[in-house]
Amino acid sequence: MLLNQERHDVVTYCQKLMTAGLTTGTGGNISIYDDESGYFAISPSGVDYAEMRPEDVVVCDLAGQVVDGRLKPSSEIGLHRIFYERRQDIKAVVHTHSTYATVLSTLREDLPASSYLIAYAGVNVRCADYASYGTEELAEKTFAAMTERHAALMANHGLVAGDMDIASAFAVAEQIEQCCKVYVKARSIGKPVLLSEEEMRRTEKRFRTSYGQK
Ligand code: 13P
Ligand code: ZN
Repeated sequence: MLLNQERHDVVTYCQKLMTAGLTTGTGGNISIYDDESGYFAISPSGVDYAEMRPEDVVVCDLAGQVVDGRLKPSSEIGLHRIFYERRQDIKAVVHTHSTYATVLSTLREDLPASSYLIAYAGVNVRCADYASYGTEELAEKTFAAMTERHAALMANHGLVAGDMDIASAFAVAEQIEQCCKVYVKARSIGKPVLLSEEEMRRTEKRFRTSYGQK
């Protein structure tokens, strides 16, 4: 099976979307890019995560054509493809409908530097302008909002995160949802104190070069 490992990983991380509480129903989607073949494995559209198997995952090329798989790829294929086409630092993309990211995106607000953990994504997380789900317009607007970032809010919709591997992309999605949650709750009782851009840049660098077992 083409991209066997990536297909298994897509299923594993789709299941994690559910266990981590980052989505509802069949909302959200995941893909992983393989540099060698130039193909990516993407979750199928509208398939129950609990039932999803590696053979249900669809393999596509950078033109968006299906090269292997029986099912229809995610309706957000354009949102995934655009990052593999245009950003060398992104090899996995996670899109969620997580609650607090969606709350902020419904207000069309950026997530400001209210926690050091936002450095998982960059100095802050911008909210992309609204476009209908599954459109090229949504892919373009979200791509623009993610400039020099590893995550973006999608207006009235959710969150997208991308990084050099699926574990990292998933971690960005999980941490940014938590930061949105804390920020929304803090805003409800007062005025959050924000961190400086300099501190965020320093923290981002430390996360990417020395945090954990690196
Ligand atoms: P798919 O099931 O087609 O991946 O769509 C879910 C979604 O999140 C659309 O934005
Ligand atoms: Zn969605």
